[in-house]
Amino acid sequence: MNDIFATLESEVRSYSRTWPTVFDRARGSYLYDEDGTPYLDFFAGAGALNYGHNNPVLKKKLLEYLERDGVTHGLDQSTVAKRQFLETFQETVLKPRGLNYKIQFPGPTGTNSVESALKLARKITGRESIISFTNAFHGMTLGSLSVTGNSMKRGGAGIPLVHATPMPYDDYFDGQVPDFLYFEKMLEDSGSGLNEPAAVIVETLQGEGGINSSRPEWLRGLYELCQKHGMLMIVDDVQMGCGRTGPFFSFEEAGIQPDIVCLSKSIGGYGLPLALTLIKPEHDVWEPGEHNGTFRGNNPAFVTATEALRQYWSDDTLEKSTIAKGERVGAVLEEIASQHKGAVAKGRGLARGLGFEDTDVAGKVSKAAFDRKLLMETSGPSSEVLKIMPPLTVSDDELEQGLQIVRDSVQAVLA
Ligand code: PMP
Repeated sequence: MNDIFATLESEVRSYSRTWPTVFDRARGSYLYDEDGTPYLDFFAGAGALNYGHNNPVLKKKLLEYLERDGVTHGLDQSTVAKRQFLETFQETVLKPRGLNYKIQFPGPTGTNSVESALKLARKITGRESIISFTNAFHGMTLGSLSVTGNSMKRGGAGIPLVHATPMPYDDYFDGQVPDFLYFEKMLEDSGSGLNEPAAVIVETLQGEGGINSSRPEWLRGLYELCQKHGMLMIVDDVQMGCGRTGPFFSFEEAGIQPDIVCLSKSIGGYGLPLALTLIKPEHDVWEPGEHNGTFRGNNPAFVTATEALRQYWSDDTLEKSTIAKGERVGAVLEEIASQHKGAVAKGRGLARGLGFEDTDVAGKVSKAAFDRKLLMETSGPSSEVLKIMPPLTVSDDELEQGLQIVRDSVQAVLA
């Protein structure tokens, strides 16, 4: 904990990030502290602000909605805002991709979506165990933590729930062991206790786990393995969905249709909490009341979410620019990595990372970048990866400015 609020006469711990300033407002790719100093944002709320801060188009819709007393709250009752969101999601996201999902609002945040997915998979299959992956991150509630592969994140909460087993992610054996050899052997071995998992939960690119990207053919192989062994495939697209890797869904390139998809973070568009669980129609076996919660279906978030889909997903402009900008970031990271032994450029789309052998380096670079007014986080099991995730709406100029600061900050730390 830093002591930024040390002057407050309060016993309440703030648990702030280590950035030693207090932010007051934000616009587009910038946050401003109380003195008005701008900070360029290469963090984007860990993927919750793909369309930038206080996006003016979304703000206009939100203000109109508030002005006419649009906010109604009656748990999950039907509202015009919800209907418009569902129609827009169908028209702009599902239909053009030939995808067919029923939509559940499982609660306000990503972890609620993961919990509903795990519960539903167990209910559908009548099986109990869940397979997750090394270095995965799925959220902070007990079910989600149980499928999270980083023991530090469990924060002393003890061992995971039973029936949750991690398998090696795509990068684990560095191509030295054939894909799924170990996994399949365990599935076939009745003594392993793993012969009838309910589901596999996977991120196509592990954000918190260190910007570890899986290959489309690995995902396809996993999908086939799931089908062969009666396991449901859950893709957790909470951080990498809504265009972070380029396409709206991060699994599109693999050409698969997962059984269940978890979405949150940028789906609300404006940074307002909203989560979705997408369920293949044949798997929609919930009875009324089996998975509920007070803040399912946040109506102001439906308004901004609908507008974000209309603005950014009616055509492929954002997808293409994200891929182009991502390639630019990737090229600069390759250039930096080539100058420092053991450094490695990681990721795809605008989910990028720079990994370092020495686990202290990424944190030091993040601090050096903060001093130069650029916000970047670290990720990976030992925080050894510098995480680079600007809003997708970042301009080319902002991107270049930020990349120059990344260069300078790495240079300052490793010189
Ligand atoms: N899944 C993934 C892949 C995430 O990155 C996160 C959040 N970092 C979550 C789930 C949990 O989302 P939330 O913090 O909104 O509960």
